[in-house]
Amino acid sequence: MYDVLKIREDFPILGREVYGKPLIYLDNGATTQKPKCVVESIVNEYYSVNANVHRGVHFLSQQATELHEASRETVRKFINAKSINEIVFTRGTTESINLIASTFADSQMNEGDEVIVSAMEHHSNIVPWQLQAAKKGIKLRVIPISDKGEILMDEYKKLFSEHTKLVSVVHVSNVLGTINPVKEIVEIAHANGVPVLIDGAQSVPHMKVDMQEIGADFFAFSGHKIYGPTGIGVLYGKEEWLDKLPPYQGGGEMIQNVSFEKTTFNVLPYKFEAGTPDYIGSTALAKALDYVSEIGIENISAYEDGLTKYAMKRLYEIPDMRIFGEAAHKGGVISFLVGNIHHLDMGTLLDRLGIAVRTGHHCAEPLMRRFGIEGTVRASLGMYNTKEEIDSLVEGIDRVRKMF
Ligand code: PMP
Repeated sequence: MYDVLKIREDFPILGREVYGKPLIYLDNGATTQKPKCVVESIVNEYYSVNANVHRGVHFLSQQATELHEASRETVRKFINAKSINEIVFTRGTTESINLIASTFADSQMNEGDEVIVSAMEHHSNIVPWQLQAAKKGIKLRVIPISDKGEILMDEYKKLFSEHTKLVSVVHVSNVLGTINPVKEIVEIAHANGVPVLIDGAQSVPHMKVDMQEIGADFFAFSGHKIYGPTGIGVLYGKEEWLDKLPPYQGGGEMIQNVSFEKTTFNVLPYKFEAGTPDYIGSTALAKALDYVSEIGIENISAYEDGLTKYAMKRLYEIPDMRIFGEAAHKGGVISFLVGNIHHLDMGTLLDRLGIAVRTGHHCAEPLMRRFGIEGTVRASLGMYNTKEEIDSLVEGIDRVRKMF
C-alpha cells in the first residue's frame, strides 16, 4: 500500500502555507523537497563527524571517509553500476555533462566530428557541446521529434556517419515528460560504434534505472532532484571509457604523485574528483536514495504514473487547454498553455492560490521554437503529490481562465 499521507509527514515543508493557503508544490522538475532524514544527515555529520576525507590518519577523517565511500556504494547499487570505480561525484547533471563534453572532445574528437543530440535537450546538454564546437570545430546534429514529443527513431538512424563520435540524449524530457527509449537509442549507437551519454536528471527520481540494462557509456544525474541535497550529483561512466579520458580539473585528490616536472594521476574515480569533495552532501544523497529505496522506486513510479494519467485527464477537461508532450511513455511532467493566457500570468496567479508551478522556456529554448511558442506553464510531480492537489491545480487554472 502506497501511503502518500505518511510520506508527506516526512517532508516538513509540505505542511507550510503561502499567502495563507496550503502550499501545493508542483515544481519537482526544478528541485524536490527534502525528507527529514536527509536534512538530519547534514546536521548530524557536521555536528559529529566533520573532517576532510581521504587524507587524514585521525579518527574523524577516517570516519568521514568511510561515510563518503559507503555513499558511493549506495549510489552504485541504486543504479546497478558494475563497480564503484564508475561512480564519480560531481556538482550535478550540468557538471557531469560538462566533464564529459570537455574531456571527450579534448581526447576523442577532431574538427568536423559530430555529436548527436535531440530536439528536446535541456540547455545543459546543448551549451557544453557548443563550447567545444567553438574550440574544436565539432558539430551538433539534432534528432527531430514528432508533434506528440517523441524522438523520430528513423531520423535518428539517418544521422550516423563516419563523423559521429558521440550520442548525448535526455532520458526523460523536463518539458514534455517524454520517456525516451534509451536502451534502443544505445543499441543503435553501439551498432554504429558510437558511445552514448544519457542525461538522467528527470528519470532517476521517478523510475528504476539500471546501468547494466540501459548499457549507456555515460549517465548523469543530480542529487537535488531525487530528494537529496543541492550541490551534489553523479557521473556514471563505464570504466573502460573513464580510463581513456583525461582528467577534467587539476588539484588535490586527483593526483598520485606531483613534481614540477611530471604529475601522475589517481585511479578511478578519484582522477575526476579534484579538490575536497562534498562529503557531507554524498552522505545526505545516500540517505535520500535509501529513503527512496525503502518506499521502493517501482512503487513511486507506479504511483506517479497513476497521478500523471489522472492529471492529464483532468487538465483536458479545461476548455482551450493545450498540453505539450503526449508521448505514449510519459513521466509526471506536464507542460501546458490555456487559450491566449501568457504562461507568466498563469504562473503568477496560480502562485497566489498557493500553487507552485514553473513558467517559461524551462532551459529548453530550441524545444520552444520547435513548438512555435515562447514558454509554457509546467506542473511536475513528485512522490508526495496527491489527487487532491491535482484537483486544486485544475480548479485554479479554471479560475484564472475565467478571469481572462
Ligand atoms: N537536464 C535536465 C533534463 C534537467 O531537467 C535539468 C534540471 N532542470 C538539468 C539537466 C540540469 O540539472 P542541474 O541544474 O541539477 O545540473
